[in-house]
Amino acid sequence: MPRRKRMRRVSQLPGHEGFQAVRSPNAGSRNLPLVVLHIEEYEALKLMDYELMNQTDAAKYMDISRPTLTRIYDSARRKIAQALVEGRSLNISGGNYKMDQVWHKCMDCGAQFSESKDVVCPFCGSTHTEIINK
Ligand SMILES: [Zn+2]
Repeated sequence: MPRRKRMRRVSQLPGHEGFQAVRSPNAGSRNLPLVVLHIEEYEALKLMDYELMNQTDAAKYMDISRPTLTRIYDSARRKIAQALVEGRSLNISGGNYKMDQVWHKCMDCGAQFSESKDVVCPFCGSTHTEIINK
């Protein structure tokens, strides 16, 4: 039986979907492929480089082993470096993660919010919302 990949716990999705590289006017018009940073890579980077959490606490927080955290974190840093050095835009999406709360996205204003019962957007009042995590 194949081993089930363990989900990594993430507190909250980023409030944006990525970054666009600023190209110099003489860089030509070729479009480089996006670098895709997975949600759990974003979380590892956020916990350690933004919230300055140590590896042991970050691994515990994400409900994963320390070696797994190190692997995810190293991958995140390589991707960020690649985007910076090669001038590629960065998209933050996908991966293998779970969240504690149910998160909805408003399809009208784009806001993301966690509500367990109400599916009305607290920002614009729209009922046109979709669950973005299971
Ligand atoms: Zn809305």
